[in-house]
Amino acid sequence: MAEAIAALQEEALKALARAQDLNQLQLWHQVYLGKKGALKKISRRLRNLDPEQRREQGIKLNNLKQKLEQAYEKKEAELKKREKRRASGEWFDLTAPGYWPRQGHLHPLTQMRQYAEDIFLRMGFEIHEAREVDDDFHNFGALNIPPQHPARDLWDTFWTEQGLVLVTHTSSMQHRLLKQAQPPLRAVIVGRCFRHEATDARHEHTLYQMEGLYLDKKVTLTDLIGTFKTFLQEFFQRPVQLKIQPSYFPFVEPGIEFLVDCAICGQKDKSCRTCGGKGWIELAGAGLIHPQVLTQAGVDREKYQGFAWGFGLDRLVMMKYGIEDIRHFHRGDLAFLHQF
Ligand SMILES: [Zn+2]
Repeated sequence: MAEAIAALQEEALKALARAQDLNQLQLWHQVYLGKKGALKKISRRLRNLDPEQRREQGIKLNNLKQKLEQAYEKKEAELKKREKRRASGEWFDLTAPGYWPRQGHLHPLTQMRQYAEDIFLRMGFEIHEAREVDDDFHNFGALNIPPQHPARDLWDTFWTEQGLVLVTHTSSMQHRLLKQAQPPLRAVIVGRCFRHEATDARHEHTLYQMEGLYLDKKVTLTDLIGTFKTFLQEFFQRPVQLKIQPSYFPFVEPGIEFLVDCAICGQKDKSCRTCGGKGWIELAGAGLIHPQVLTQAGVDREKYQGFAWGFGLDRLVMMKYGIEDIRHFHRGDLAFLHQF
């Protein structure tokens, strides 16, 4: 019985501390001090005790009743005071969570574009903006893709009525930069590209591309791999594993493809949607600049070599944040955008 009384005291006082307004306080009173309350219930057990025990426990119960009633009155006075102050408008709760109106912010792609540009600037690259509409020559011809070349089928293209192209890659700027280049040239070209194709979780008709363009003496594939890997480690802030496999692009020779280990599943989930269970994600096409591209831009191909890569910024941002579908970026869905 003595333990039951002590337990009731502890429970009742804790519950009282939680009461936030007068309604809750009344409820508390009913539960502990009311006619059918916990105190009444426990008092009934006195009957079963012998006279001496009954007297002893009776005193304890009485003390508890007084204690609870006093605590109740104190709390009631406190809550009444608080409600009065609140009603008069002078109420100010220092412990209430702060309110800050929700402000707009840059789109996650823009944030990450600036983040990536900063890394390249620190590595000694200059940043160039790509055109969004260009002519056939700069998008294809200057990149060793003459008319009727079967490689044109690699890109499903939007054309304007004037015969201009919505650029399919930022490489459309290569010719201009190479033509004016005074090596060493270290440039990164950023812009939007457009593909006339069906969309899915990994493909979108509009995407951001970041292109690296490097021209100097004695440039090899090792320079390309080292530069690209350094960038990725800075971008993801972790050591990355690169897989390099041969690939074909008309404007490089040899052409390679960079794949990076899937950070979403850690290469462990066969049902991973981001990497399709393969553990690797294709990030970029790259290679040494094709001698034909250099010659067209008037660069002495005996003296200079260069490398180039192009990667989709959208896919890189997906990897960084674990975004499973590329189409979220252009949906204009605030619930998605406010997470960044
Ligand atoms: Zn994966």
